[in-house]
Amino acid sequence: MTEIYLKGNTLTQIGQKIRVEAVVEGCEPIWFELDKQFQSMIDTESVDAFFVLYTWLAMERGLDLKIEGKVSRQLADAVSHDIKKMFLALCPRLHEIDIDVLNPESSWQQSDGSSATGFSGGVDSWYTALQAEENGTPYAYYLFANTGQHGKDNVEEVFAQRFAVAESALCTMNKPLIAVNSNIDRIFRERFQQRDVIGNIACALLLQQGISRYDYSSSYAPEDLGVFEHYDMSIMDPYLLPLLNTERIRFFSIGDEAGRIEKLEFISSRDLFSNEIYVCIEKTIPIKNCGYCFKCRRTQLALESIDRMALLKNNFDFSFYQKIRLGSMVGLFSSANENNLDLEIKNKLKTEKNSNIFMLRAISIFWSLTKKLMPEGIRWRTEQKFPYLW
Ligand SMILES: [Zn+2]
Repeated sequence: MTEIYLKGNTLTQIGQKIRVEAVVEGCEPIWFELDKQFQSMIDTESVDAFFVLYTWLAMERGLDLKIEGKVSRQLADAVSHDIKKMFLALCPRLHEIDIDVLNPESSWQQSDGSSATGFSGGVDSWYTALQAEENGTPYAYYLFANTGQHGKDNVEEVFAQRFAVAESALCTMNKPLIAVNSNIDRIFRERFQQRDVIGNIACALLLQQGISRYDYSSSYAPEDLGVFEHYDMSIMDPYLLPLLNTERIRFFSIGDEAGRIEKLEFISSRDLFSNEIYVCIEKTIPIKNCGYCFKCRRTQLALESIDRMALLKNNFDFSFYQKIRLGSMVGLFSSANENNLDLEIKNKLKTEKNSNIFMLRAISIFWSLTKKLMPEGIRWRTEQKFPYLW
């Protein structure tokens, strides 16, 4: 076999779920699964969602790609030229391939103009959602995808529980959170971050019968963005996203102009905020904010620095936080110079906590030196056991 041949897709109902699966030769079939109530949003006319993913897969495997199912002409042109080149620039392990789109189509029936964005319950998600409300352009739908972001172990359970946490957080917004499950992570060779954007965008493309605008939050500062070799596809968000537009849906990269403190202050002062945030990277069941990973540390210290103690107590184990609080501060202070998000919180804490800052800085400098001199084995064990110190 020298090519992947994408012929179309099929819809099947499994219990209360609808599965959309690629009909394909020369490669495993990718599928998406979502609740039956959202079936009318599924794009059954085109194979756009699969087309983007199989392009990456064909490039991973060095196989040519032939598409028989209908594809947006705009997307077909972009993928065959610029997007293929951008993938190669980002990840030179990929192969140059030929793409043959047999049925490009430029005339499509438009959906009703609804907008959507992703929602995890985290600070960035909340900020994007509440800003849109504030601007009078609220989202009609929120997406929650499984395309590899929930780890390798016990994935279905982690995905289900994280979805429940995010859905509970979103309750005040009164809009549906749509879970889109998929088997993408089991098929792709490159790790999640290397191709995260196209996995998430494919979920939105799958629903382009019901969504005509999708906002994607950027995780990089403008000065760090570009098209070059990098482990994270998000580095090229503002360049890649507009190229993934079709005749029916447009993608926007939402800039990250506000800092963490500013975002938390904005979120916590809004009536529509449910007071529930979920920021944790840990995947231990039951899913909750662990309190000691770097994201929990950053959020807890940020909340304390702006005196949102009720929010801190509502979302974290406060007695545990009090126990490791000094360690968390030392960890943050000793690593803040390598991370702009941590640096912002360090600076805020410095202005808020004048009295004990001298001692804290002294311990942090000592700890920074100790970390540098620590033998690799001890370093690894300490990092596993006390992540908040790193
Ligand atoms: Zn955590």
